[in-house]
Amino acid sequence: MEKEIFYHSRAKIQNYIPIVGRSTIEELMALAGRLSGKVIQNINSTFTGGGVAEILTRMVPLLNQLGVDARWKTIKGSEEFFSVTKKLHNALHGRKEHISSEDFSLFLEVNKKNIEELKFQGDIVFIHDPQPIALIAKKKELGEKWIWRCHIDVSNPDKAVWEFLRDFVIGYDAAVFSAPNYAQELPIRQFMISPSIDPLSDKNRELPSEIIDSVLNKYNLDKSKPIITQISRFDYLKDPVGVIQAFKMVRKSIDCQLVLAGGTATDDPESEKVFEEVKERASDNPDIHILLIPPESDMEINALQRAATIIVQKSIKEGFGLTVTEALWKGKPVVASAVGGIPLQVKNRFTGLLCHSVEGAAYAVKRLLSNPEYARWLGNNGREHIRQNFLLTRHLKDYLLLFISLYYNTDEIYL
Ligand code: UDP
Repeated sequence: MEKEIFYHSRAKIQNYIPIVGRSTIEELMALAGRLSGKVIQNINSTFTGGGVAEILTRMVPLLNQLGVDARWKTIKGSEEFFSVTKKLHNALHGRKEHISSEDFSLFLEVNKKNIEELKFQGDIVFIHDPQPIALIAKKKELGEKWIWRCHIDVSNPDKAVWEFLRDFVIGYDAAVFSAPNYAQELPIRQFMISPSIDPLSDKNRELPSEIIDSVLNKYNLDKSKPIITQISRFDYLKDPVGVIQAFKMVRKSIDCQLVLAGGTATDDPESEKVFEEVKERASDNPDIHILLIPPESDMEINALQRAATIIVQKSIKEGFGLTVTEALWKGKPVVASAVGGIPLQVKNRFTGLLCHSVEGAAYAVKRLLSNPEYARWLGNNGREHIRQNFLLTRHLKDYLLLFISLYYNTDEIYL
C-alpha cells in the first residue's frame, strides 16, 4: 500500500517560521538540498493509529515540501500476524509473553511475502519498529542504505525476542532509538533521536477561546475554579487512582476540580476495567470528572489541556510521555513522575515539578495553586524547552542529518 502523501500537506513548511524562526527553516532547506535526487522510502505497519503513524503523517509531507522525495508504504499482515507482533512488542518492553516457534515462523513468513509484494524504491529504506524488520533480507539484492527506527524502550527486553530481532538489526546500516537509555549494544551505528510534537496539528495549535469554552460546557466544568487535569489512556501504569488520591489531599485545603480524561483501547482489554474502577473511586466526589474521550478527538484534548490550570502526569512507567510535551508546549505548569522520558522534558523546578509519590504530587500541586506566578514561570520555561528540543522541525533536522551521514564514512557524526 502506498500513502497519497499530498492530501495531508496542510501544514506548509513556511508556517513554522513564526514558531521556530526563519533560520531554522533555512537550515532545513540547506540540508534537504544535500539529498536531492535521493528517494527515502518509509515502511511501517499502519497509516493510522499510534505514534509512528502520527509522526509520519506530518513528517513525510514536510520532507516533500523541502524537496526531499520521501515516500511511505505499509506492510500487509493478517490479524494473527499483528497479534504476534503485539506480543513481540510487549516482550521488548520486558513483559513475559509466550511466543511459540509457530509465532516466529508466521512473523518471518509475512515479512517474506511482503518482500515479494512490495515495490522497493528507496535509495534509503527507512523501516519503523519491529513488524517489518525482516524486510532487511532484501538489502542483499538492492544494496542501498537501510535504517531501523525503534520507538520502543528495548533496554530491558525478553532475551529470546531481542536475540531473534537483533539478527535482523545488525544487517542495517544504522539504528535509531528515542533516548540513550532505551538502546542496546550493537555493532552498527546508532543515533539517538527523540520524538516530537507538531505545533500546527489540531492537538497542539492555538485554539479560539470559544472552542475551549464549548468543551468546558460539554463536560460541565466550572471555568471559575482551578482545574487539575491528567490526559491518559485508562491504564494502571498511568496511575489514575494515585491522581485521585493526590487530588483529594489537595481538595481538603483548596477549592478545585480534577479532570481525568482519556480513552479505553480496543487492543487493551484492561482499560475498561481501569475505567470502571476509576469511576467508582470518584463517585463520592462531584469535583472529580472522569471523561471518556472517543478516539480522534485531537481538538477536544487540546481544549482540555488549554483549559487546565495544572497538568499532571503521575505515571508509574512511561515511554517518552507525549502528553507532557503537549502540556509544556501549551505553557502549562506540569507535575509529573520522574519516569521514562519525562525527566528529559520536566527539568525539576525549572520547567515543571517532578514527583515520586502521591504525597509528593499533592504537595507540588498545592504549591503551584498557591503560587500562580511561579506556576506561570515554570510554564513559560517549559514551552521554551519544548520549542528548542521537541518540535517536529528539530526532528526533521535530525532525520536529514541522519540520511546525509549515511553517505559519509565517519564515526565522528553527532546529532
Ligand atoms: N491521547 C489521546 N486521547 C486519549 C488519551 C491520549 O489522543 O484519550 C493522546 C495524547 O494526547 C498523546 C498520546 O495519546 O498524544 C499519548 O502518548 P503518551 O506518550 O503520553 O502515552 P502512551 O499512550 O503512548 O503510553
